[in-house]
Amino acid sequence: MTDLIRPQPGILDIALYEGGKANIAGVANVVKLSSNENPFGPSDKAKEAFGRSVHQIHRYPSTDHASLRQAIGETHGLDANRVICGVGSDEIIHFLCQAYAGPKDEVVFTEHGFLMYRISAMAAGATPVEVAERERVTDVDAILKACNRRTKLVFIANPNNPTGTMISAAEVERLAAGLPPQAILVLDGAYAEFVEGYDGGAALVDRRQNVVMTRTFSKIYGLGGLRVGWGYGPRAIIDVLNRIRGPFNLSNTQQEVAEAAVRDQDYVTRCRAENAKMRHWLALALAELGVPSDTSMANFILARFASAAEAEACDTFLQTQGLIVRRVSSYKLPHGLRITIGDEAACRRVAHAIGQFKGMK
Ligand SMILES: *Cc1c(COP(=O)(O)O)cnc(C)c1O
Repeated sequence: MTDLIRPQPGILDIALYEGGKANIAGVANVVKLSSNENPFGPSDKAKEAFGRSVHQIHRYPSTDHASLRQAIGETHGLDANRVICGVGSDEIIHFLCQAYAGPKDEVVFTEHGFLMYRISAMAAGATPVEVAERERVTDVDAILKACNRRTKLVFIANPNNPTGTMISAAEVERLAAGLPPQAILVLDGAYAEFVEGYDGGAALVDRRQNVVMTRTFSKIYGLGGLRVGWGYGPRAIIDVLNRIRGPFNLSNTQQEVAEAAVRDQDYVTRCRAENAKMRHWLALALAELGVPSDTSMANFILARFASAAEAEACDTFLQTQGLIVRRVSSYKLPHGLRITIGDEAACRRVAHAIGQFKGMK
């Protein structure tokens, strides 16, 4: 009677997450611009730490991540006791949903928000609530209007993925202040390092009791394959999350490489500058070809085409040219292609290929 073996309600309604494509059959010299990875990879110091870590691989890792949290705290000026580390920031998002949302509770996020918010909410049995954006920008008033007594979590990414847009610190604070008393605002800062002088919302976390910030080593640090992220929040919330965190969720390799990476802020500064330069160049080049995009604050641009058909045709052509970008119809943006900012050669190839595509029509 296998039909008596059933998962918890909501689980079978989860649509499987599809990652960015990584290769194209029969095409050589492929550039992957579909997952917002750092085209230069991680810093040399992180790679050296990876090599060293192999000598300790027979040892169980630290369960409290003290050394990594210390490095994060010192680098960002944060209380290391209120930092929690996870298997990517995905795991922190998962902990938040598991700990704070369940059946009959609501988890709010925006129309073009990151797909993991929906997946983690549904995995916890909670009800996902999607709120419209205003011209691809987070709409604080619309979010506040969607909140009620059942709202437990509100997720926004700032800058947002896949739109690249950002709202001001004052708007974020207005959102935090306006939430119902039982709700937590989660500020996903996956792209915070790409914004010069931005703290990802850390100061707001310190000022309030209802805000948690998540961060990742997957984007500017170039460590998407390593799987390390972290969260920063009020002591009471971090304490709750630590109770459901597996004691050995991060290997010594993950902890040591991430620590070396966060201590190498010169590398972060160089990557931020290079990204900003090429992002500006690519956005301008595409605009001249009749492909506009919103001003992006992250390491990608969302190129907008005249129709879903044109976006799809352009994606198909780019693939024949060995360029993998991200279709974003699952983010309700069928007219768009999200293009990660690669190195200069990759950006030139993208502009050239989109120019050819536009010329062929
Ligand atoms: C890439 C990304 C993350 C990072 O996920 P990890 O699990 O840390 O790799 C989180 N949020 C958003 C919005 C992202 O785009």
